[in-house]
Amino acid sequence: CNKCERCIRITDGYSMDVIEIDGASNNGVDSIRELRNKVNFAPAEGRYKIYIIDEVHMLSQGAFNALLKTLEEPPLHVIFIFATTDPHKIPSTILSRCQWFNFRRISLADIVAKLKMIVKDEKLNIDDKTLNIIARSSTGSMRDAESALDQIIAYCGKDITSQSVREVLGIIEEEIFFEFIEAIIKNDTLKGIEIINRISDLGGDASQFIK
Ligand SMILES: [Zn+2]
Repeated sequence: CNKCERCIRITDGYSMDVIEIDGASNNGVDSIRELRNKVNFAPAEGRYKIYIIDEVHMLSQGAFNALLKTLEEPPLHVIFIFATTDPHKIPSTILSRCQWFNFRRISLADIVAKLKMIVKDEKLNIDDKTLNIIARSSTGSMRDAESALDQIIAYCGKDITSQSVREVLGIIEEEIFFEFIEAIIKNDTLKGIEIINRISDLGGDASQFIK
């Protein structure tokens, strides 16, 4: 509900019963063995203990094997949540014991709305057009949008211009983009290569340009 004490503790990361583990930095078999010992303890306040393993695809083969033993006979009070962007890297023995939920990318408008909340909290000076540039560069990932904004604040402080956002994110001016499309339509390879060189000279990032 996000209003009661228990929910607020979970959101703030203080709940004893909701444990988040970064699978990328705890990917060894020892981390999972430790987890297996801990899951037997009863929850502190709720009915369930929830273990969230983020980036679960980063676990080692040994770690997956250890995890599988727990998944085969999980204690009744434990719920595991595995988050991943790469489900194909997870062994089918694990996948077959999971329920799948696919999350879609977040809309541009929703990302901008969330960024606006941060802008207000942090008292940043930034216009909507510039926020849109940040939101678009994150291609539907709220986490990417927030970390981009973090980087931008570290680089330019509280007064943020579209120019400095482009510099930090390696985004090219729209005019060059249109020029490039025109070169493609006209099948003008030389012009296309010349534009790519120009982007690289400006310190732009080719993968950002493609996005
Ligand atoms: Zn609640």
